[in-house]
Amino acid sequence: MSRFGAFVMPALLPALAIIVLLLPGIQSFSSFDTIIHYTGWFLLALNAVFSIRFHRAQPMFASIILALLFLFYTRFDTFFAPYRTTESLWLLFSAIPMLSFWLMVSPRKALLSGSSIAWSVGIILIGFAVWALAKFPLAGDHIARAISYRTISDIPLPSILATSPNLPLISVLGGLACMIIAAFIMQKDIHLISSWLSIYPAMILGIYFFAQTNLAILWFTAAAGSISISLLQHAHSMAFIDALTGIPNRRALEEKMRSLGSKYSIAMADVDHFKQFNDTHGHKTGDQILRKTAALLFHVGGGGKAYRYGGEEFVIIFPGKQARAAGQYCQRVRESIENSPFYFRTRKRLRNKTPAEKRPLKKPARALYITVSMGIAACEINSCKPEDILKTADKALYEAKRLGRNRVIIAHAKES
Ligand code: GH3
Ligand code: MG
Ligand code: MG
Repeated sequence: MSRFGAFVMPALLPALAIIVLLLPGIQSFSSFDTIIHYTGWFLLALNAVFSIRFHRAQPMFASIILALLFLFYTRFDTFFAPYRTTESLWLLFSAIPMLSFWLMVSPRKALLSGSSIAWSVGIILIGFAVWALAKFPLAGDHIARAISYRTISDIPLPSILATSPNLPLISVLGGLACMIIAAFIMQKDIHLISSWLSIYPAMILGIYFFAQTNLAILWFTAAAGSISISLLQHAHSMAFIDALTGIPNRRALEEKMRSLGSKYSIAMADVDHFKQFNDTHGHKTGDQILRKTAALLFHVGGGGKAYRYGGEEFVIIFPGKQARAAGQYCQRVRESIENSPFYFRTRKRLRNKTPAEKRPLKKPARALYITVSMGIAACEINSCKPEDILKTADKALYEAKRLGRNRVIIAHAKES
């Protein structure tokens, strides 16, 4: 974003607030419902803007679902009244989770992809079906009778829910099951899972509280907010998590280094002869080795926190630890890396095998090993700069390389 954009964008909100405050009849804005209502729309708009900037289809479509339901719900009396039938609600409740399920498990997450377009067509078809159900109520009756579902009103619930429509239990539970299964399938996108799992109940409750507009709006707004939070978390992980290894990146390290106390150790680790490894086994295998090494370093123990510094270099920070104590944990993790075999088989070899041979072997033919060298420096006096300690750790690492690699060398920070 340009400097101008970075300055102006955040200022847009206060400017908008001033315009709203100057609107005639703003007195009615004091009501809780109205505020919640506008907050919901505001969050949905924010979600749309950030989904477009991050090229993310799922939060975009989740927001569109909510916006449509929100409209269907709040404009109900005036515009959508003729379309309110038990069948139309049944349809919304069955079709929307199914469509969401499909969107969630589809591998393409980009905003402009085939599945996104097909999904939009699906939404239009649902709208058409809702319209058709209202237009031809007899067809709706037939469908309802054919299914003869039990409804949510069959469950003994507090009387506040008594005015709710007869939502079919099967579609509510089926929809919920869809969302949960989808959440397990897409385990990697942890932020989206949590937001989806809160969106669906919010949708159910929103429609469930049909007769109590303010309660429904509250649920919709909460659902819109949960998408916003997932987008924020996504932005945070894009900024602070390394995409290849999944551990915190250099920016996260710089943040951490700004908040270190007066006693800590810093270890620097570097994979030995990694260029040669890449040349022999290929860059892809090299990437997998980096992932595995990062995972081992991440679990170094002793309160140590690992970061990918860049390339095949990692930094571990041990808050409150002296160099010797940190050294013990580093020695242990160095040994575990040295002794961890990395198994790999190429696709080419798999393709030529018979189905029986394709089954995962208990011990694949080829095991690769790598080693790391580490340098440690500590701040054991009161006034040391983390950058200096890092430099000293780097020198100790260089020493470890010079002495033959696959070892941990401890240095001591110069007193300043
Ligand atoms: P030394 O033992 O002295 O550290 O030797 P080295 O070969 O590990 O050191 P050098 O700095 O010469 O090479 C580092 C190599 O790491 C070069 C580069 O191709 C590789 N590398 C850096 N980042 C990545 C990455 O993200 N993936 C892969 N596969 N390789 C990477
Ligand atoms: Mg290096
Ligand atoms: Mg190296």
